[in-house]
Amino acid sequence: METPRGVIACDHLVVAAGPQAEALVAPLGVRLPLAPARAEMIVTEPAPLMPMGGVDGNGLYGRQTLRGNLAYGGGPHEWLDADASWPRRRPSTPVLRSLARRVAELLPKAAHLRVIRSWAGLVETTPDGRPVLDRIHDPGNLTVATMSGVGFGLSPATGHAVRDLVLEGRCTFADISKLTIERFADTPVDWRQDKGWIPTSHEEAIALSAG
Ligand SMILES: Cc1cc2nc3c(=O)[nH]c(=O)nc-3n(C[C@H](O)[C@H](O)[C@H](O)COP(=O)(O)OP(=O)(O)OC[C@H]3O[C@@H](n4cnc5c(N)ncnc54)[C@H](O)[C@@H]3O)c2cc1C
Repeated sequence: METPRGVIACDHLVVAAGPQAEALVAPLGVRLPLAPARAEMIVTEPAPLMPMGGVDGNGLYGRQTLRGNLAYGGGPHEWLDADASWPRRRPSTPVLRSLARRVAELLPKAAHLRVIRSWAGLVETTPDGRPVLDRIHDPGNLTVATMSGVGFGLSPATGHAVRDLVLEGRCTFADISKLTIERFADTPVDWRQDKGWIPTSHEEAIALSAG
């Protein structure tokens, strides 16, 4: 493997680099269509415990912590562009305002709660919204694991599957044939435009969050 710090010899390479994965496998002749995006979560001050702790709706998912804080995220992403060395900075965005508004709409009696924390990160999404967990045919010593947008990276099964692909050449405990990279062979080059998953300007992001 050629890196900025020199050549590293290895028998097998696993690319699990989140949104950067597309740019890292491209020089190997492997096409991996990904749309990088920012995902953000907000946390409110505590409220009395509600009968329903977790809610999924109004473009949100989240739950109430045992202390009473509402922790919510989800909804429209802020779409970004990535290269192999990106990102260089990770500022907060107007997406937060949109999140807070939708929490207030979903839980009107909690609309007075103040947002006390937020956190954000970068996720990547495939065209069909499912992960890629695949040992590539050519080159034969390359395995790709991507699609952090569904939280797959935190699942212990993902690590076991990657281990199996590298050492056994196949997943030994589940049929993951639907997760191969080949399913995107006919995906058009401009697929992100087709879906509207393209970066917006700061001004557009503010307008979207207000709308
Ligand atoms: C705000 C937020 C909240 C989330 N909440 C949840 C949740 O509640 N539950 C859940 O299951 N999931 C959640 N997720 C998703 C979860 O974080 C991801 O699924 C998981 O982190 C993906 O793991 P990964 O290893 O594939 O990718 P990442 O965690 O993105 O790791 C990729 C790694 O590759 C490194 N890298 C990139 N380029 C290079 C390079 N050129 N060379 C070397 N290293 C490189 C990066 O530095 C990074 O460490 C959340 C994500 C965000 C952003």
